Amino acid sequence: MKSQSKFEILRMPPENTNSVLVSNGGDAAIFDPWGRCDDWARILEARNLTLREIYATHGHPDHISAAPDLSARYDVPWYMGAADRDLVGWGNELLDFFGLPHICAHCAPSSDLASGAAMVLGKIPMHIIASPGHTPGGMCFYFPDEKILLTGDTLFRDGFGRYDFPGGDQKTLFESISNIYNLNLPDDVYVVHGHGPDSTMESLRRENPYFRPAKA
Ligand SMILES: [Zn+2]
Repeated sequence: MKSQSKFEILRMPPENTNSVLVSNGGDAAIFDPWGRCDDWARILEARNLTLREIYATHGHPDHISAAPDLSARYDVPWYMGAADRDLVGWGNELLDFFGLPHICAHCAPSSDLASGAAMVLGKIPMHIIASPGHTPGGMCFYFPDEKILLTGDTLFRDGFGRYDFPGGDQKTLFESISNIYNLNLPDDVYVVHGHGPDSTMESLRRENPYFRPAKA
């Protein structure tokens, strides 16, 4: 039987980043918790959900702004690529711009992510795809049962993420994009990007000129 999982794309205030709320029964996981902890608490309460897990595609403040507080308030693990640990606390001026509190430099994810198979909420199969380049520890997440791919800032509908931030690297980023291309995911896979409009595998292959295999 297929899992009774539900995926909800949330553009939390102040609108900037695409977050994803995954739930199964009364349990919830948040991917890229942008915004404020209190706003997330209201969302969870309104849906009668208990937060169990937090995941981040990468360690930039616009993908983890609520992660330290949520992790502490609900005593739940916050998973992120180990190589992005050093980024936590970097780029607080972006949070100033949006009027959000700073992320403390000593805040740290509770668990490291590695590429390979994982199980969200103990029930939902997920492939973790290491995707460095935008950041050293960036990860994409693919859910084969639901045919949903979260790219973080590695790839956008019409382009790709920046590689000029600390730890970023252009060649590595294009290798990561090539890697995702070479997975040959089905056309109807729904793709949620870290920012901007969603896409599908089919539309990415057709419309994003950067979504292609790397030149040898
Ligand atoms: Zn980023």
